[in-house]
Amino acid sequence: MSESAATCHEFRAEVRKVLNIITHSLYTNREIFLRELISNASDALDKVRFLQNRGDSVREPELPLEISITMDKIAKALTIADTGIGMNREEMVENLGTIAKSGSEQFLRDLAESSGEKENGQGDAASIIGRFGVGFYAVFMVADKVEVTSRSATDDAPACVWTSEGEGAFTVAPAENGPARGTVIRVYLKEDAAEFLEKYRLEGIIRKHSAFIPFAVKVETERVNTTPALWREPKFSITMEQYSEFYQFLTHDTKAPLDTLHLAVDVPVQFNALLFIPDAEQNDFFGAARDHWGLDLYVKRVLIQRENKELLPEYLGFMKGVVDTEDLPLNISRETLQENVLLRKIQQTVAKQALTHLERMAADKPEDYAKFWKLHGKIFKLGYHDYVNRDRVAALMRFNSSIHGTGGDLCSLDEYIGRAREGQKDIWYLAAPGHEAAKLNPHGELFHRKGIELMYLYEPIDEFVVEGLGKYKDFTFKSVENVKEDALDAFDDIVDAAKPKPRELAGEELSAFDALMAGMKDILGDRVKEVRVSHRLADSPACLVSPDGMSSSMEKLLRVMQKDETVPQKILEINRDHPLARALLLIHKANAQDPLLADMVQTLFDNCLLMDGYLKDPHALVARSNSLLERTGQWYAELRKL
Ligand code: ADP
Ligand code: MG
Repeated sequence: MSESAATCHEFRAEVRKVLNIITHSLYTNREIFLRELISNASDALDKVRFLQNRGDSVREPELPLEISITMDKIAKALTIADTGIGMNREEMVENLGTIAKSGSEQFLRDLAESSGEKENGQGDAASIIGRFGVGFYAVFMVADKVEVTSRSATDDAPACVWTSEGEGAFTVAPAENGPARGTVIRVYLKEDAAEFLEKYRLEGIIRKHSAFIPFAVKVETERVNTTPALWREPKFSITMEQYSEFYQFLTHDTKAPLDTLHLAVDVPVQFNALLFIPDAEQNDFFGAARDHWGLDLYVKRVLIQRENKELLPEYLGFMKGVVDTEDLPLNISRETLQENVLLRKIQQTVAKQALTHLERMAADKPEDYAKFWKLHGKIFKLGYHDYVNRDRVAALMRFNSSIHGTGGDLCSLDEYIGRAREGQKDIWYLAAPGHEAAKLNPHGELFHRKGIELMYLYEPIDEFVVEGLGKYKDFTFKSVENVKEDALDAFDDIVDAAKPKPRELAGEELSAFDALMAGMKDILGDRVKEVRVSHRLADSPACLVSPDGMSSSMEKLLRVMQKDETVPQKILEINRDHPLARALLLIHKANAQDPLLADMVQTLFDNCLLMDGYLKDPHALVARSNSLLERTGQWYAELRKL
């Protein structure tokens, strides 16, 4: 391909999809196209400043770093020019022909979701467009045609012009008279977008969305943005509105932050930080945008790196904000930022301050804290890794528990300990998919009878968290499934006086019961490892227990990960005091070969599998249950002489 020829290119498929949505269905909030173009210009200027600070040579080094906007009412065109890094021909094809970040799929999905929520209609397009790097294409909300003329700051390539009408294709050709350095974007406005030729309108948009751009943004030679680096200003001089505006500028969130931390630290490292706790969930923290966290690092007000992950422990990854330090050289390279000791020290201070802040919030503003936990608790729980601050992190965690209803009331570990029974040394937990399942789980029965509170863990990660913590203060985390036979003997039952106590088995009856257990094992064969008497049940007749002491939810998680679909061989435990067990005992004593006994034992076992989510084939269970019901019905009718 000759350097001087014009070439025509097709957009990549995902770009066409995104463009199609942008040009045909986004009508509200169109003004954010300008924010996206200015933000790209600012990024391009940042890159030049970065190179210059490092001592690299760039084209036209004397040119000021700025963004100029001009309007041409006759041609109905708006021009946004910057003196930034620019692009050569290949970079234009690459950067403006594909979607920069891998988020296009996610973008399409989120867009579909947000337009499904009729209330704010397409309003959310604004935040979604910014978040997923389809930024540049937002211009086609207002343009019939766009020309991007650019000259790279780092090579000698001639200026080129990229042109597209936002349909399927674009062309790239040599430019007649390109800028000395940087990029000029000429936007031919659609018929219904003439408002964007008005100076006051443009100034309004810039003040609203681009106030904190660290370079001059001029409309017809007049500078519009004058807000300084807010994090360097003294706290008392800053209003809540300013914090909020800065937060929205930074995150493209449409709401105000839940909370703000403004830090000015001198030892062991000098830095200023402005940190926010968003009032919105980080939906994709564990998904598509896995790497979308960190703090923006500035050195002496110059942006060095966005989303730096050395500045923040991962479990505080829900926080957004900036850190600015004087203690690093401006010409630091991105490589030396990794594993940097200074950044580590900043991270430690940021973590400590954030924890102090959250502790205060929990004590003084419990409603805000509950909101924080609901939005960010999932990420914060990862803090069980933080050995240095482990007790503080644990104290800030919130859990569901057996003494709360489904209303979403949560408790802290200190509250749990405060309610522990005299002499209790363990924090008992039970993993289940939800409140109802937890309440009915047979493993909890003994604890309920003894009035011992249980932590209910509803999410798979919770078990890793409590096992990772191991202990809290003098208490050890223990799964109810691993309770030792005599562990709760010291605690009296808090018995319901009205409830009759079952008659204890004695002497011969005990050995008859052992024979029953052996008989049950014969009936079930390899389906169980062992059948034994349970010491953990109060109301249920039976339950399954893992032989190796692993909790059943953890075991299930591992089996899913290993794609193991077989039914694990477990121990069947029988509640000796349960009327059903007593009935089995009588039948067994009379005739160990009674076919009814086999049917009952099989059904009891299948019911346990069903409870634990392991029942594969319901047909046998249903057929057997129906046959049992049929017989029970007949006996009842005979007995009552109906
Ligand atoms: P993002 O800004 O998230 O990378 P955009 O769609 O906004 O995504 O921009 C795509 C890419 O086009 C940018 O990453 C950049 O490489 C390039 N680009 C856009 N505008 C400019 C500009 N004014 N100067 C230099 N490069 C630009
Ligand atoms: Mg962009």
